[in-house]
Amino acid sequence: MKLQEIKNINISGKRVFIRCDFNVPMDEYNNITDDRRIRSALNTIRYCIDNDCSIILASHFGRPKNGFEEKFSLKPVAKRLHTLLKQEIKMAPSIVCDQTIAMAKELKAGEILLLENMRFEAGETKNDEELSAKLASMADIYINDAFGVSHRAHASVEGISKHFDIEHKAAGFLLAKEIKFFHHIVHNPKRPFVSIVGGSKVSGKLEALYNLVPKVDKVVIGGGMAFTFLKALGHEIGNSLVEDDLIPEALKIMEEAKNLGVKFYLPVDVVAAEAFDKEAIAKLVPVQEIPKDWMGLDIGPASALLFSEVLEDANTILWNGPMGVYEMDKFAKGSTKISHAVASSYATTVVGGGDTADLVRITGDEDEMTFISTGGGASLELIEGKVLPGVKALVIEE
Ligand code: AMP
Repeated sequence: MKLQEIKNINISGKRVFIRCDFNVPMDEYNNITDDRRIRSALNTIRYCIDNDCSIILASHFGRPKNGFEEKFSLKPVAKRLHTLLKQEIKMAPSIVCDQTIAMAKELKAGEILLLENMRFEAGETKNDEELSAKLASMADIYINDAFGVSHRAHASVEGISKHFDIEHKAAGFLLAKEIKFFHHIVHNPKRPFVSIVGGSKVSGKLEALYNLVPKVDKVVIGGGMAFTFLKALGHEIGNSLVEDDLIPEALKIMEEAKNLGVKFYLPVDVVAAEAFDKEAIAKLVPVQEIPKDWMGLDIGPASALLFSEVLEDANTILWNGPMGVYEMDKFAKGSTKISHAVASSYATTVVGGGDTADLVRITGDEDEMTFISTGGGASLELIEGKVLPGVKALVIEE
C-alpha cells in the first residue's frame, strides 16, 4: 500500500484544509489536561506555514448532540495552538456559513483559521454530501492528519477527500507515521505478540477484539471490558459495567481463542466499590465474590501479578484501554502496575488510545514505550488489517 504523503505534493502558496484530531482530554473547567494530540499536529501545520500556505484547521471534539454547545467548543484548542505556534489563530463563527467561507478565502500566506467542532454539524458523522462539498470548496488541497478518526467515514475525513484528485490530497506527517508503524506491526510482529485490552467501550472494541484474536498469541482483558466476559462465564458481577447484549459475542471471542490456541486472560480479583465515586468504600475481592450491589472499578493485585507474568516473554505488546478507573487514585493501582510492567518489558510496546496515552504520561512511563499512538479505535482496526476509510482515499496504489 502506497500512501500519498504531504511531502510529495505541491502545496506551495496554496489554501490547505487540514483535518486534525484535536479531541483532547479536558477537565471540568475546560482546561486541556493533555495536549499531545495538538502537539502531534504541529509538524504538518508548520510545514504548511513554511510553504506559504493559508491554513484551515478542522477537528471534532467530544460528542455534542444538538449543534453548538460551549463545553464542546474548540476555543481552548485555539488558545493552545496560539501558545504553541506563537501566532494568531482566527476562529470561524460556525463551520460552513458564508462568513466562514469568506474568512477562508481571505486568509493570507501563513495565516491560520480554526473551524469550530465539526460535530456541531449533524452532517459530519453522516458523511453528508453537501457538507463535504462545502468544506472542500474552502481549499485547494486536502490533508488528513487525524489518525484517531480515520476509521470513521465522516464528512471531514472521507466525504471531503472525494473532491480532490491524488495530486491535491495527502496524508499529513502524523497520519503517515502512524500508518507506517502499524503496517510494520501487522506484517512483521515479533512473537509472542500480546494484546492488552481494557477501558469501558465494550461495544466499540468487541468486533476489533474478535478480529485481533487470530493475529496475536495472548489476549489480556481488564477494565470495564472484563465484566461482560466474566458475566458470560457465569460470575456475579454486581453493578459493574456490562453490556448484556454482547455476552454472546464475548463467548464467541473466548471460543475462537480456544480454537486457535490463543491464551486468554481475565482478571482473577478486582477492587469493588459501593458506588462510582472516589470516596466510595472499596474492598479487594476475588472475581467469584463481587457483592451484589457493588461494582468492580479496578483489577486487583493478583490480576496485576498474573498479567505481568503473561507479559514476561512478550516481544510485541499492544495496549489499548486502562485496567480500571485510573482517573480516581483509589482505582488507579492496577493500571499503574500494568503500565510499569509494559514499560519495563523488552518488547516493542505500542500504546493506543487517548486514555491509555494519558495514563502512561501520569505513571511516568511515557518515554519507555516504543510508540504511543494518537488513535485507539483506529489502531485496533489497522492491526486487524482493515484499510481505514480516511486512509483509503489517500492510497496511490494497493
Ligand atoms: P476507553 O475509552 O474505552 O479506553 O475507556 C476508558 C475509560 O474506561 C476510562 O475513563 C476509565 O475510567 C474507564 N474504565 C476503566 N475500567 C472501568 C471499570 N471497571 N468500570 C468503569 N469504567 C472503567
